[in-house]
Amino acid sequence: MKFNRTKIVATIGPASQSAEVLENMIDAGMNVCRINASHGSHEQQQLIIDTLRNLNAKKNVHTALLYDLQGPKLRIGDMRDGGVIIKEGDEIILTTNDCIGDEKRVFIKYASFVKDVKKHDTILVDDGKIELEAIQSNGIDEVVTKVKFGGMLSSRKGVNLPNTRITLPSLTEKDKADLEFALANNIDWIGLSFVRSAKDIEALKSIIKYKNSPMRVVAKIEKPEALKDLDNIISSADGVMVARGDLGVEIPMEQVPLIQKTILNKCIAKSKPVIIATQMMESMITSQRPTRAEVNDVANSVMDGADAVMLSAETSVGKDPANVVQSMWKIVHAVQNSASIYNRMQLPDKHSSAFVTESTIYNACQMVKQTDAKAIITMTHSGYSALKIASQRPEADIIVFTDNKTLLTQLNLVWGVRGFFYDKYENTDVNINDVKDIIKKEGIVKPGDCIIHVFSTPLHERGRSNTVKLNVID
Ligand code: PGA
Ligand code: MN
Repeated sequence: MKFNRTKIVATIGPASQSAEVLENMIDAGMNVCRINASHGSHEQQQLIIDTLRNLNAKKNVHTALLYDLQGPKLRIGDMRDGGVIIKEGDEIILTTNDCIGDEKRVFIKYASFVKDVKKHDTILVDDGKIELEAIQSNGIDEVVTKVKFGGMLSSRKGVNLPNTRITLPSLTEKDKADLEFALANNIDWIGLSFVRSAKDIEALKSIIKYKNSPMRVVAKIEKPEALKDLDNIISSADGVMVARGDLGVEIPMEQVPLIQKTILNKCIAKSKPVIIATQMMESMITSQRPTRAEVNDVANSVMDGADAVMLSAETSVGKDPANVVQSMWKIVHAVQNSASIYNRMQLPDKHSSAFVTESTIYNACQMVKQTDAKAIITMTHSGYSALKIASQRPEADIIVFTDNKTLLTQLNLVWGVRGFFYDKYENTDVNINDVKDIIKKEGIVKPGDCIIHVFSTPLHERGRSNTVKLNVID
């Protein structure tokens, strides 16, 4: 199968958790499995993780695991009969006392709701399908609201408060338990929902560090506050998700396209993998084919240079998850030769502490361009060189050899990277010959192709990259 440089993230749920479907999805081009902690029990999630890891071993692939913490997401409680119809102009009380909701009174699971919400604040339910306005509060446990847009108000739907500063902590009790579960399972990437500032990322990272885990953090950008602290969030996180579902409810949705491009370019400039998420192939939840607009959405994200494009309900509850992945893969392939993606040629900063590595990589990528090299090859333990090479977007396969098994799966999210396990550290000549033979055998290169090696000498110091070698396959 031809390799996709923009990676595919697929959310796993009831429609895709069986070994058979997961295997078909891997064959169709899935690179990262996403589990959403908001859905399913730890037992069910454990089954997905175990099944995926068995498949990775069986097929010798490195499918990564991304586990999304729910964060301070607000929800209403259970509704009578699963849902009731509410009409424009009706008054409804939102209460912080647990009850079965109806047309008059609905439970909201958010203790300081009454304290945080002000008169005239907008309350959006179910991705903004229902809109309420706060008109009066008793200051204790109830807010009276007026229905602006009515419809079916169903159990446990999400609530967004675009004008309200929410005082919930970034990690809820549920998140802490889910984080324990993720740490125990050595999950590759953990997503944090509703990030508001870089502090949220730092708090999560300090727990991960305390537990001595190599887990990397994806900041989900879906709050207006996050946009104000965007540069710091990108610097603190290891990766970023443009979470268009909630973002498009929290801010006017017509602002999302430009913000998507801004986030994407900032992430590439900082060598942080960026995922474009939500509704990319939405119609395929029920259809066999995507709409033309969806095809264009995925294609444009690929042409903008996104590290990954993501599927949510399309694969978690959709009618044919493997078919969705395959359709996405075809779009990625059809446009991944677009010149707009390649050769970012970001100049390294002379004053950076990593100047030697960055300058080596910058020039190695210049050499890829000049020689039309088919592959740029590096050996890394930390992954730093791999991320730096990827952020230059060279027009060549990025082949990463590492003895770090966690890194091998983590890098499966990163643009252009193909990882191989390799743990021989004898001498540079042996290594260079070895990796050349391996990629030749894998069919990545053929006789006459140029390849560029980026490595560190002296080898035994296992330091950062400082050497470039140009080779021709014989
Ligand atoms: P979610 O995040 O699917 O966990 O809500 C993605 C988004 O909001 O777009
Ligand atoms: Mn979200």
